[in-house]
Order: sequence, then C-alpha cells, then structure tokens
Amino acid sequence: MSQVLLEVGSLIQSAEKIVPGPAYVLIKDGIIVEVGEGRYGGVREGLTVYRRPAAVAMPGFVNAHGHAAMTLLRGIGDDLPLMTWLEEKMFPTEAKLTQEAIYWGTLLACWEMIQSGTTCFTDMYFMMHSAAQAVEESGMRGVLSWGMVGMDQTSRQNGVNNTKSFVRQWHKQASGRITTTLGPHAPYTCPADYLTLVADLSAELDVPIQIHLSETRVEVDNSFREHGKSPIAHSEACGLFTRPVLAAHCVHVSDEDIAILKAHDVRVAHNPQSNLKLGSGVAPIVAMKQAGLTVGLGTDGAASNNNLDMFEELRLAATLHKGIHLDATVIPAAEAFAMATAESARAVFLPEGHGTLTVGARADITLLDLRSPHFQPTHDLLSNVVYASGADDVTDVFVDGQPLLLNREPVTLDTERIRFEVRKIEEFLKR
Ligand SMILES: [Zn+2]
Repeated sequence: MSQVLLEVGSLIQSAEKIVPGPAYVLIKDGIIVEVGEGRYGGVREGLTVYRRPAAVAMPGFVNAHGHAAMTLLRGIGDDLPLMTWLEEKMFPTEAKLTQEAIYWGTLLACWEMIQSGTTCFTDMYFMMHSAAQAVEESGMRGVLSWGMVGMDQTSRQNGVNNTKSFVRQWHKQASGRITTTLGPHAPYTCPADYLTLVADLSAELDVPIQIHLSETRVEVDNSFREHGKSPIAHSEACGLFTRPVLAAHCVHVSDEDIAILKAHDVRVAHNPQSNLKLGSGVAPIVAMKQAGLTVGLGTDGAASNNNLDMFEELRLAATLHKGIHLDATVIPAAEAFAMATAESARAVFLPEGHGTLTVGARADITLLDLRSPHFQPTHDLLSNVVYASGADDVTDVFVDGQPLLLNREPVTLDTERIRFEVRKIEEFLKR
C-alpha cells in the first residue's frame, strides 16, 4: 500500500471550500483519505512525505477538450477560419503523421500540461494506441477517443474497427487512469446513419461519446440547409443523446438547442481561446449555466490555441463573458475555477468528487508557489489563482498521489528526448 502525506501552506479543496492556513492531505493508494487543517497528528512511519509550507494545493485542472498530438502542428496555419484551416492546413499535414509521431506529440502535450498544472485531459485523434501509451508513461489521467469520420465506406469501417480495438485494449487501463469514449468528429463529417450507428456502438461498448457540435455559424447554416435542423437538434434526432455525450464548443446555439442539451444532460466543453482564434465566436456559457448544464473548460488542440495552458482558459472564461454581457457579476471566480476542475471532471464522465480535494476523491493535485508575486498580497486566495496566477507558479503535480512534477522538474518524462524527437518530426513535416 502506498501512503503519501502532503503538507502545504494552504489548500483549495474546491471552489466552495478553502483552508487558508497550513493544511495536509493524506493519500492511500491514490485516494484522499484525510484532509485537515494544521499539522498531521497521526503516525508518520511508512508515509512518503512531501513538505511544501510555501505552496497552495488545489485540484489539478481537467482539460475537457483537445487533440494532444496536434502540438506537432503548433504554428501551422495561424489566422485562418476553421474550414480553410482544417482542409488546407491540418488534414494534409496530419496525413503525414506516423504512429511514432503521435506518440511523441502526445508526450509533448503531456509535458506541457503537467508543467501548467493539468492532471487529466481528453483526447480525440487517431493512431490512439500510441497516444494511450504516452499517457500511460506520463502518469497523467486521460479520457481518450479514436476520432471517427463517416464520409465513405472505408473511413466508416475503419472508424468502427479502430474504436472497438482501442476501447477493448485501453478502457480502464494504466491503473485505471485511462478511460475511453467514442469520438465521432462532428455531424458534418459523420452522416446521420453513422451517428445512429455510433450511438449503438457506444451502448454496446458501454462508454460515453464526445463530439464537436455547433462550432461555427457556417456549420449551423449548412445543417439547417441539409437537415432542416441545427446540429444539436439533428444529433438528437439521430439518437446520439440517448447515450452520455460530451459536446465540444456549442458556440452557435439557440435557446431550443440549450433545452435539448439540458433534457439529455449533454455535457459541454467550453474552449474560449480556440473559438476566438479561429474566429468562431463566443459560446453563450452564461445562458447554459443558467439552464443548469454541466460546462467544463478545454484548450482544444495546440494548433488552434496555441498552447495547452488551462490558466489562460480559466482567466478567459472568467473575463470574456463579463465583456460580452457588459456585466462584471457573470461567471465569478469560483464558477470559473469549478469549470476548470470539478465541472470539467463531471463533463468528461469522471466519478463524482473528482476535481476536488475531498475525502474519497482521487489525489490529482497541483501545487502553486505562494512566494510568487501573484500571491502578494492574498486577500482572497481563489481570486489570486483565477485572476493573477499562471503556469509559472506551478511547482508540483500529483496524479493518484504519485508525483509527475517535483520542484518544477518533470519526474516521469525525459524532456530532452521529447525535444530531440519532436525536432526530427518537425524536419520531416517540412519536407
Ligand atoms: Zn476539437
């Protein structure tokens, strides 16, 4: 049995519960079994102790939407609208990616996410066995899907076969850190009967679904032209929402769309920076929250962001909607923080309690340096985290109580090797 004691200067258990003074977290076999104020009074024999009196512990970020190995495409095709970006820049470059490239690109993503305090991420890409191997080695938690498109018979069949083999091999693997979902790309790349087939397959394999929905105005207009319905109403008609679904983006949605999402408890991944950079718009998160939807936060891939830093998404989520609504009271700090942690965890179908530092939750923990200028002074700890701090303040990261970053140094990753391999892939992609 592994037993870990984490002693810290202060503790954010969740958006609602903060321990301002010294505190500790006791972890057994990856699960938080005790959280307390002051000093741990129990027996210390047999414990692995991490003493960080100048750090605040908080739940690690959960990145609710992304395409990890797209780190390799960072900087290719900036400043283009979504469809041009996809068809002229992304698809041709992605066609050159090998299994090895996916492996190193995913490791690069893991490195970047660990360094910026993220402990769990979702991924929808291809050659996912290589991505899963990278996740396993990195020590991170991953909710992974093999992207499916249904434009022709070959791609339809490949999507089904790849997904089946991937789910069967990787679901609940890596000591339970990896879970899987189905990943139909979007209604505009998956015809109606294919979406129905995906829903059936999701039931057969007993895993949820993640999909891109209503990302751009053009997508919604085309959907009305082709199906007489919005992408969300169309997905409902195809039976997709009979299964648990995580919908990325939902930028252009009507009140009826929001009602459909709510009726089926569809979870939403809000990706403010990617939506801004691709000129897609701003998702009506305030209305979604008012309707009671579960909304998590994501970065999307590094080719449309262009980094995987959840601090930036957190700050954008907390400020962008204030500007849109001309109302400083919407999405307050606590709500934004929950969106990046507990709400994101719920959005990606992790067990209740995940994304908090409460007893019974998995010990996925990020520590920030209280000596940083961003924490001087500390009138309101959560405000410091949401509105002032950044990835530079991350000192330590744990998943299941196991260290992935200690005193700012990656524990599980050979970063020199990642840099070397990614440079080789960069040269190859340029050819
Ligand atoms: Zn995406």
